[in-house]
Formats: sequence, C-alpha cells, structure tokens
Amino acid sequence: MNRVHRIKCGNVNCYIIENGAKGILVDTGKREYLDRVTDMCRRYNTKLIVLTHAHFDHSENAAAISESLGIPIAMNEKDTDLIKSNFAQQLYAESFFGKIVLSASLKEFSVRPLPEFKPDILLKGGDSLSDYGFDARIVSLSGHTEGSIGIDVENRDLIVGDALMNMFYPTVSMLYNNKDKMLISAEAISKTGKRKIYFGHGKPLMNRQWIKK
Ligand SMILES: [Zn+2]
Repeated sequence: MNRVHRIKCGNVNCYIIENGAKGILVDTGKREYLDRVTDMCRRYNTKLIVLTHAHFDHSENAAAISESLGIPIAMNEKDTDLIKSNFAQQLYAESFFGKIVLSASLKEFSVRPLPEFKPDILLKGGDSLSDYGFDARIVSLSGHTEGSIGIDVENRDLIVGDALMNMFYPTVSMLYNNKDKMLISAEAISKTGKRKIYFGHGKPLMNRQWIKK
C-alpha cells in the first residue's frame, strides 16, 4: 500500500508518497524548510522529486534536495518557463482573499528568484509512476499554472497542488493563469469521485463538487 505523508512547511504543504521501501517527494517548500523536508526525504528513502508546478513556494528547494540526495526532478514541460521567472505566467484573482494572496505572491516572486534547475523527467497527464514502484498516476490540472499537475495515488488519495486551495476555506484555486482551464481542472477533480484531496495550502479533506451549479 502507498501512503501519503503531509509535511507542513508554514502555510505550504509538501508530501511524501511512500510504499514501505521508498518514497517520492511531491513539492519541496520554501528554503526556510529545507532541513525539515530533506530529513523526511531521508527517512522515507526518497528517490524522486515531483513538482505539482514551479511556483517558488513549491519548488524553491528542488535544486538543493536534488543535489544533496542525488535524485531527479520531474515536472510538466509547460511550467519550465517559471523556473527562470515566476512572472513568466501572468496570474489573476477575482475574490477578495484571492487578491490579497495575489499581491503577497507577486511581492515574493520579485525578491525570491528560484535557484535554477533543469527537470530530469517531464511528466504529463496519464503518465504512470509504476516504473518507480508506485501505483500512482499523473493528472493534468492546468489553469493555476499552464503546467500544473496532480498525482492520483491508488485511486484513493489525490494531491492537487494549487489546482484547489484550502487556505482560508476549501475552494477552487484563488489564483490562476487561465480561469477557464482552472475551472475545467476543478471539475475533473470532482469527477474522480471518492478521493482524499491533499492541497498545496491547507488541510486535506474529502473530494466534493468544487464548482457550484
Ligand atoms: Zn502556486
């Protein structure tokens, strides 16, 4: 059985998917949490880093962990432009809280350029992680960023990155590069059915109808 462990890094979550023998790190957190995340990677014999997307709060430690543990970084090709600059994909927000989060994010983008890395593996929707010994599948969740992906573990646990958020309350993403795609991804998550949803921000909870009709 695969298990998902949440690593709480301030208001950002990283996760380790683990099968008893080895682990996959999903997202890497901000640099303040490098030691905590690295320790967890060692504890679960982590062999791969998967980034749900390349915003710095999820990927700032990717280069350092990849180098110190000698493990590859996997992500979607459509987010590689964000490695050079988190401003490469324009973000929008409409809600009250969304606008607050957007202005805080943009401020951080300008002072926290990502330590550069080149992804070793490019993942896309439908890819399986069975080669790594995991019953897990990549889901395309474009919208928050163009290359946002999720990981569906044993049709039971779904790590969604920032495709959904539970920062102040559970909701579709409050920030997005493309609102239409973000809503399509949220609906696709609803349609996966019974899943525990693991957010990039906030506590996990059960899947639901994310778009009110
Ligand atoms: Zn993000």
